[in-house]
Amino acid sequence: RQAKYAALRDKPNISKDGVSLSLNMNAGLLIDIDHFPEFGADGIGLFRTELQFMVRSQMPKIDEQTRLYSRVLEKMDGKPVIFRTLDIGGDKFLPYLKTKREENPALGWRAIRIGLDRPALLRSQLRALVQAAAGRELSLMFPMIAEVSEFQEAKALLNKEVERAAQKKEGPPTKVSVGTMIEVPSIVWQLPHLLKEVDFISVGSNDLMQFFFAVDRGNPKISDRYDTLSPSLLSLLHHIAEQCEQAGKPFSICGDIAGRPLEAMALLGLGYRNFSMSSEALGRVKQMALSADINKLEDFVRGLCQSRDHSVRDQLRAFARDHS
Ligand code: PEP
Ligand code: MG
Repeated sequence: RQAKYAALRDKPNISKDGVSLSLNMNAGLLIDIDHFPEFGADGIGLFRTELQFMVRSQMPKIDEQTRLYSRVLEKMDGKPVIFRTLDIGGDKFLPYLKTKREENPALGWRAIRIGLDRPALLRSQLRALVQAAAGRELSLMFPMIAEVSEFQEAKALLNKEVERAAQKKEGPPTKVSVGTMIEVPSIVWQLPHLLKEVDFISVGSNDLMQFFFAVDRGNPKISDRYDTLSPSLLSLLHHIAEQCEQAGKPFSICGDIAGRPLEAMALLGLGYRNFSMSSEALGRVKQMALSADINKLEDFVRGLCQSRDHSVRDQLRAFARDHS
């Protein structure tokens, strides 16, 4: 199967009707970057920095973090990389970070909440990222932002590190782009304010769906109760895309649905052009994207958002079949 997709690898990411797309890969360790050229991705749309922390028995020192981020940027050689700051808590556990047991860890002390409550931890990571990108471009985003004020607080910490780097011999990054993940429904209703402050956003549909449907992302007993192609979810994703288009801000999607061909096809119809997914998903999504007629999809999928059905999967399958 991968061999079949390998033939597509060097083809440009342009839909059948001529729309340019950006297909990126999710990563988290250096080994993912080593394999980057095999998959024909445009860049890394989500670098999960917590993986370095999760594979250790103690907190990685700033120097170790800096070394990893520098290696990533070196190996990517100017291709885009979006680093996501530490996203721990919830389903991601660090044995050496002492936390109290929580009744609802998914809704608990996690991700940017830890970073803002323990600014020394977040600042050390931001320092490592800024140092690693000296003389290069740096793109980073914050996870689990629920309110604009959280983004502002996190960005203020980043600014301090960029100012600090400007005093050093190595200097600051040549450009810093800072964005947020859209994973908590509350921030969707502050988008007009948020979009004035960020350089880009990326939809984390795994957590966004978990909170939107109130369905634990790791519980198989309820995992098929709500569909990833439910009209209410598509409406939410469409609303996000429209707000970003109106504000003229780049937007992408990096949750698991970006790596499923039928879901990704629906996302094209909702206005998404930039996807980030696991490496093994790239071939199948690319195959779909190259054969997509986005103009037709837009009319079709936007109509489906009004449906009262549990899911519009069957309608999308039929559309895919009829349009090869
Ligand atoms: C998401 O929530 O969709 C996401 C990309 O982040 P993670 O899966 O790492 O929580
Ligand atoms: Mg998430």
